[in-house]
Amino acid sequence: MIFEYAPAPESRSVVTLRESYGLFIDGEFAPAASGENLTSLNPADETKLAQVAVAGPEDVERAVAAARRAQETVWGRMSGAERGKYLFRIARIVQERSRELAVLESLDNGKPIKETRDVDLPLVAAHFFYYAGWADKLAHAGLGPDPKPLGVAAQVIPWNFPLLMLAWKIAPALATGNTVVLKPAETTPLTALVFAEICQEADLPPGVVNILTGAGDTGRALVEHPGVDKVAFTGSTEVGRQIARSVAGTDKRLTLELGGKGANIVYEDAAIDQAVEGIVSGIFFNQGHVCCAGSRLLVQESVADEVLTRLKERVARLRLGDPLDKNTDIGAINSAAQLERIRELTEAGEAEGAQRWSPACDIPESGYWFAPTIFTGVSQAHRVAREEIFGPVLSVLTFRTPDEAVVKANNTPYGLSAGVWTEKGSRMLWTAERLRAGVVWSNTFNKFDPTSPFGGYKESGYGREGGRHGLEAYVG
Ligand code: NAP
Ligand code: MG
Repeated sequence: MIFEYAPAPESRSVVTLRESYGLFIDGEFAPAASGENLTSLNPADETKLAQVAVAGPEDVERAVAAARRAQETVWGRMSGAERGKYLFRIARIVQERSRELAVLESLDNGKPIKETRDVDLPLVAAHFFYYAGWADKLAHAGLGPDPKPLGVAAQVIPWNFPLLMLAWKIAPALATGNTVVLKPAETTPLTALVFAEICQEADLPPGVVNILTGAGDTGRALVEHPGVDKVAFTGSTEVGRQIARSVAGTDKRLTLELGGKGANIVYEDAAIDQAVEGIVSGIFFNQGHVCCAGSRLLVQESVADEVLTRLKERVARLRLGDPLDKNTDIGAINSAAQLERIRELTEAGEAEGAQRWSPACDIPESGYWFAPTIFTGVSQAHRVAREEIFGPVLSVLTFRTPDEAVVKANNTPYGLSAGVWTEKGSRMLWTAERLRAGVVWSNTFNKFDPTSPFGGYKESGYGREGGRHGLEAYVG
């Protein structure tokens, strides 16, 4: 039976939102030169959270100049051990303020507090701690005896893990002696602005971290600025392509972390209950707004019925609703635009002949929501099997032999992640060796660690973030 749960909301009172936020340039908050603003919403109820400034070309100019000055006069000259102290300090303040940041992230993004509290924030702090530890050991990182910073890094990030993507970008850049200008996504700028306050609190020298809020135009102006030495982008393949074109022919170094259509392969000898949990966290974690989501389930035909029956039972028990409720499993979709894209692709799935299933589930009246959805009878040609949906939608395909599983898993223009479920070690290794994916999880899914490199093949981008590999993208 399914139990009713009484509401258990986390208090919003730990967050003190200002009505409006400026740009963070050279250690201070300032309005945009144009005076333009945008509003960040809470996607769970469409209420306004705060206004943020929209950075234009003049602001980009000022931020890049501040970053250059700080890099050449302070940060690039400082010893690694000193830089490490600042990074450790930032990591500790993030931990101290993690409840506030978790609530704010849930408000601005729509993801469940259970995830921001237990996944995003611990990983953000861990990332800063990890790269703080590298700052004085760069000579031992296998990057030559004296690796040099590149200079000023322009960093553009998406809305699905706002603060975590910030950490992935800023921590290795700072550890290696670069300074940064970072643009958060239009719909989720608020935790980056609290992070700017944390930089002030940590006494980070002005100009080392600059945060420019705004939409795509701000991102474009930043990556195209001739004064940046390095561009790091996480987002869609389409925008990644545009950036690659704009950077081509310049001296800028580039790393791209783009989309994915990860295969989650379940062999007949897998522990079915564990696999079902892994399928659920692979696609329904963070509403499926995960570039490395296990959005294509490949299940061996002999166990397909059993897996699907148990999977549906499990999905029927997921609780969708208030992101701040501690029992919520599935929060809000981040924006009206993303909801529209999910609707369009799921409608295409039905129109092309796949069978759609969702559990009975109460959808709140305001806000952006999408019930967890499973498509069966999916063929490789269907759009739901080929295109990234970036929502809580799983496409199920079957296979008979390991060879077939590998061929189907690799039949995608992407190559970011994959999962393999089997009790047999040799089969696990055989499969992992043949998968063209940057990350292959074995009997688990969507697990992250700052020591482990992450990145893609093919249209999922190039370069690695995390681990020792993540340093390489920031040294010359
Ligand atoms: P997006 O449209 O590519 O946006 C990503 C960031 O780029 C945002 O900050 C966006 O600004 C900015 N931007 C938009 N147009 C730009 C341009 N012409 N020049 C420079 N910057 C520009 O992607 P999204 O829809 O927000 O994010 C979802 C996508 O990100 C998915 O495809 C997902 O797979 C991918 N993703 C990949 C990874 C990874 O590690 N590989 C991680 C997370 C997400 P605004 O949004 O403010 O307009
Ligand atoms: Mg928002």
